[in-house]
Amino acid sequence: MVRPATLKCGGKMVSPKNVPAWQATQPRGAKRAPTDPVFHVRGVTKVYRMGEVEVHALRGVDLDLYPGEFVVLLGPSGSGKSTLLNILGGLDVPTSGEVFYLDHSLTAASERELTRYRREHVGFVFQFYNLIPSLTALENTALVTEIAENPLNPEECLRLVGLEQRLNHFPSQLSGGEQQRIAIARAVAKRPEVLLCDEPTGALDVKTGVVVLEALERVNRELGTLTVVITHNAVMASMADRVIYFSDGRVHHEHRNEQRLPANQLNW
Ligand code: ADP
Repeated sequence: MVRPATLKCGGKMVSPKNVPAWQATQPRGAKRAPTDPVFHVRGVTKVYRMGEVEVHALRGVDLDLYPGEFVVLLGPSGSGKSTLLNILGGLDVPTSGEVFYLDHSLTAASERELTRYRREHVGFVFQFYNLIPSLTALENTALVTEIAENPLNPEECLRLVGLEQRLNHFPSQLSGGEQQRIAIARAVAKRPEVLLCDEPTGALDVKTGVVVLEALERVNRELGTLTVVITHNAVMASMADRVIYFSDGRVHHEHRNEQRLPANQLNW
């Protein structure tokens, strides 16, 4: 990978005079080599200290994730998937190792820079939807577009997830699957480069889960958003471009699918 002149080999950010490191990069939409990864992860460890006890959540992870990929992180509970996702999303920092988002070192970033990174570049979808109960589907989705630089039309986002008929419904008037699709619409409304999903179907039955996965598929296909989905359900592996298997805080192996299976054809 060709690194820009703004970076030293050690991964420390060196910015042109008077320009904060965080801004000293190519403008959005600037041409990049198609092989440049969005995330470049090397030697990442994470140790949680709980009093006397140390939990080694990540034990040395190397990983590159590329533009437009649909990646499934698969592994048993406790294998470190969420810890890695949180680090990629700038919600947590590793104990050691390096993480780059494009030209930015997330490991060298300040709290403030990480906040800005999350706000501008990352959409999150969690198992629970975290919608605001007093706002409609449209208002929940529109909320983030007010602070985004180049947002999508909120109605368009709800159409993308198949909820164009539910714009004025409140969360309590919608099923779990519909609420999760609002959460997806909300996550993509700011037009993030990356969509990080932690067990997005974990609270749903199979039929509803499939509709949610179809929504993620459509976002990935139509917006070209790098989509990373955590699951412990091996069935979902077939819908990915690439499946990364986690075990005991490490990447155990990975597998590339020649062809992606549409979510509605997964064999549950
Ligand atoms: P997964 O997503 O694969 O289920 P996690 O990344 O959530 O795995 O957890 C990996 C390990 O790190 C587990 O042993 C978990 O208990 C531990 N862990 C995760 N988050 C914390 C935390 N905030 N404090 C202490 N231990 C944690």
